[in-house]
Amino acid sequence: MGVTAGLVLPAWLTACSDDSNGPEVKYDGVVGIVGAGAAGLAVADYLISKGIKVKIFEASGRIGGRIKAIKPSDPIYNELAADFHVELGADRIFGTDSEFGNLIKLLKVPTVKFREEPTNAQDYYIINDEYSTQAEAEARGDFQALKIFRETGLAAYTGGGSVQDAAATTSDLQPILNSWLGNAYGSSADRIGANALGEALSLIEHDKKEFMLVTNPISDVLTSKYARALKRVTLNSAIKAVNYSGAGVTLTVLDTDANTESTVEVTKLVVTSPVNVLKDSSLISFSPALPASKTSALSRIGMDASIRIILEFTRNNFFKKPDGTGPAPAFIYGGVECPSYFFSGVGRSDKNLTVSLTINGPKAEELRALATDDERIQRILDEMDVVFDGKASLNIRKRFPEDGGTIISVIKDWTAEPYILGGQSYPLVGGTNDDRVALAEPIADKIFFAGEATDVTGEFGTISGAIKSGERAAEEVVAAILEENASA
Ligand SMILES: Cc1cc2nc3c(=O)[nH]c(=O)nc-3n(C[C@H](O)[C@H](O)[C@H](O)COP(=O)(O)OP(=O)(O)OC[C@H]3O[C@@H](n4cnc5c(N)ncnc54)[C@H](O)[C@@H]3O)c2cc1C
Repeated sequence: MGVTAGLVLPAWLTACSDDSNGPEVKYDGVVGIVGAGAAGLAVADYLISKGIKVKIFEASGRIGGRIKAIKPSDPIYNELAADFHVELGADRIFGTDSEFGNLIKLLKVPTVKFREEPTNAQDYYIINDEYSTQAEAEARGDFQALKIFRETGLAAYTGGGSVQDAAATTSDLQPILNSWLGNAYGSSADRIGANALGEALSLIEHDKKEFMLVTNPISDVLTSKYARALKRVTLNSAIKAVNYSGAGVTLTVLDTDANTESTVEVTKLVVTSPVNVLKDSSLISFSPALPASKTSALSRIGMDASIRIILEFTRNNFFKKPDGTGPAPAFIYGGVECPSYFFSGVGRSDKNLTVSLTINGPKAEELRALATDDERIQRILDEMDVVFDGKASLNIRKRFPEDGGTIISVIKDWTAEPYILGGQSYPLVGGTNDDRVALAEPIADKIFFAGEATDVTGEFGTISGAIKSGERAAEEVVAAILEENASA
């Protein structure tokens, strides 16, 4: 296994030019697209398939948005024990029959369901600073009750308050609740609205199975499937102002390299900016201003800080129970400083010494407030050392360990990405799915909205949700054009 296997295999990388979106649409205009993440690329691909001209403006210097991996060409890759692409944003695919799951199937990309054969990795739990296997946790009545709440209870919940209020679990298991239904949805259980998250979970139609790509970074799937869209992307081009008061749409484009501004005319525009960018009119402003229905919806959708930390260990048996011989760990849930430790090499690497930590919401804000990366890592190691009797610090991989050494780590702070500004959208207490419907609503058949936050099918905060939102917005653009053609 390992990364090189992927690099020699991928006939599929160039194999996909899917023209299956139906007949061409007559249109002389140009549709602008703000953002070259999964949603923006999906919009572009669909419109190109209809023969519609598109221009994608991407503020950063790369495509992919919240999809980004450490690749062999990155200098840090050679220092890591990992012999696979280490994802710094989205790392798992939800649903083998979800939008993105189906795409992966179509492209025949090698995948692993890491909790199933042949890996059979299991989740472990931290409960009151003690390390528990899945079986040990399952033996507790309060754990069983929380599991039922997670699997079916929340989806059926119609009361108010936060996820934490609705779960009403024992104090012992609050951190596990927070791992499962707080951090995993981009924040903490006391910030996320129970009603809206439950509503979203009840809308999901895929099988909810989790899996990973074995040999390729997730971005390979995007660049393969959306190859024809890539040529339409202009990097380092931030859309600062959108004026749609005239017949078309005038964009003020900031060249983020040269720090110069210019204007570009398009006839329609699809905006895929994340929620925190949309909320900040110094980053993107609209004239006329966004309608109250949207600003009101935005006030009930949160997007918190999000940090991915990659740490590696020189051995992994102390993460297994009993006596270092148990099943390989997939996740460790229940940490307070870090609610989600993921063994991202599971099923992809024979070594499996890499731990990918995802820290969202208040704990990510606390980490961001610390002065140095050393302090951030120390805070995490302190938590692990309590659970693993000091073995985390003892076995952490270092450069020049014989001289005391420095810890090898990667920290990706998503809030520091100037046109992303956080992790993923989530419903605040009092929010509902209608907020996403309002956010997605086109304005004057000229300005359209996509991006994970505008998914109305319960899959916000995911790649599938982003792609589905892009396809939905592209269909809205085509419908508007057809209507204009019919009345011309
Ligand atoms: C740490 C982390 C872990 C995650 N894990 C998973 C996971 O395991 N599975 C999963 O399915 N999902 C996961 N997600 C969520 C997933 O990554 C996102 O839902 C998805 O990638 C969002 O795609 P998008 O196109 O909506 O937005 P983005 O990927 O954010 O793309 C938006 C793009 O627009 C650009 N942009 C914004 N404003 C402007 C502007 N004014 N002008 C020009 N360009 C602009 C941005 O630079 C960005 O490139 C994770 C996210 C994070 C942060």
